[in-house]
Amino acid sequence: MKFWRQLRWRILATQIVVVIVGVIVLAWVADAVAVRSFTTEFEPFLVSRLPGLSAEVARQVSIELQDNFHQAVAQALLVAALAATVAGVVTGLLLTRDILRPLREIGYSSQRIAAGHYDERVSLPASDELAAVATSFNRMAEALAQVEQQRVVLIGNVAHELRTPLAGLEGYLEGMVDGVFPCDVETLNALQREVRRLHRLVNDLQALSRVEAGQVPLQLTVFDLVAVIRQVVMQLQPQVIAQGLDLVLDGPDLPLGVYADVDRTAQVLLNLIGNAIRYTPEAGRIDVRLVATEPLARVEIVDSGIGIAAEALPYIFERFYRVDRSRARSSGGSGIGLTIARHLVWAMGGDLTAASAGPGQGSTFCFSLPRAGGEVGAKQNM
Ligand code: ADP
Repeated sequence: MKFWRQLRWRILATQIVVVIVGVIVLAWVADAVAVRSFTTEFEPFLVSRLPGLSAEVARQVSIELQDNFHQAVAQALLVAALAATVAGVVTGLLLTRDILRPLREIGYSSQRIAAGHYDERVSLPASDELAAVATSFNRMAEALAQVEQQRVVLIGNVAHELRTPLAGLEGYLEGMVDGVFPCDVETLNALQREVRRLHRLVNDLQALSRVEAGQVPLQLTVFDLVAVIRQVVMQLQPQVIAQGLDLVLDGPDLPLGVYADVDRTAQVLLNLIGNAIRYTPEAGRIDVRLVATEPLARVEIVDSGIGIAAEALPYIFERFYRVDRSRARSSGGSGIGLTIARHLVWAMGGDLTAASAGPGQGSTFCFSLPRAGGEVGAKQNM
């Protein structure tokens, strides 16, 4: 690196420039003062006080005094310049050390982080400005460490999720090879179920990576939310009947216009009502309520199912989180559905929350979407 580009030399050069400018200005001012004092003021003063003194002698005395004064000033300036230079160099070096040490530390730590040492942090320097930089750097390192940890956890979770259907497939195939399972329609159906589960998981993972990266293309239009809810409920009717559940729709008689993506809204509703069905035992009740608040319309899905414990509630929107792992998996759940649903609702400008009074006391999932400035379509009953 060229030396004049280095901060150390630049700071030292600045100090020296200050000394040089100080000396020049002081010498110039001293000279100006001397000329004024000795020539314009002292000479006439001398002549007026000593009447016998000729102007020529007064002039010589003045010149002599001026020379003495100049010499004294020059000596004083030399000593002052030396002292100022030494002080400037010393303070410059101290200042440079104070600035460069934390910068070097940050540079070194960033290289360590780049090499994968995410626990690297820098110490906080004394100066406020550098401490602010160091604090930001540490925050960035913290965020990177979290991302890295999430990445490791995600890979572990994906591997874990893939292992279950693969183990199932392997088990059936080995059984067939060993003659334990007959190669009949029943066994092939079981194999197909595992393959479907794998397929669903892979689709979910792809959807998850897209929503988390904010890459889901949304077709935002004005549509009737009431009609979409009715359509999703119809789609799930066979499961509702099979489980002997009571599904009740409750909402305004008029269609309710929202500004969102129809297919994504249906996907969120399918997930939430599907979960309500899945986690509500036979003969239970599910209420789907539509509340026309402003500026967001709110859909509440209230079930009388197994409920969610207070300690589990904060985590249910995290990827792969299942309150009861064995139960959710046996019913085909991967714990990704709610994560995707919440990201989709957020992308459409709404929110998705969950509440439960505790295990066995049912759950309430509530999501909102932006209203479309008035009601659309013709009058329709839910
Ligand atoms: P899954 O596919 O496992 O259902 P979700 O992301 O949709 O994944 O849900 C995550 C977890 O939240 C579920 O495994 C379940 O434990 C809990 N959960 C979701 N909906 C309900 C509900 N209506 N009642 C009780 N628990 C629920």
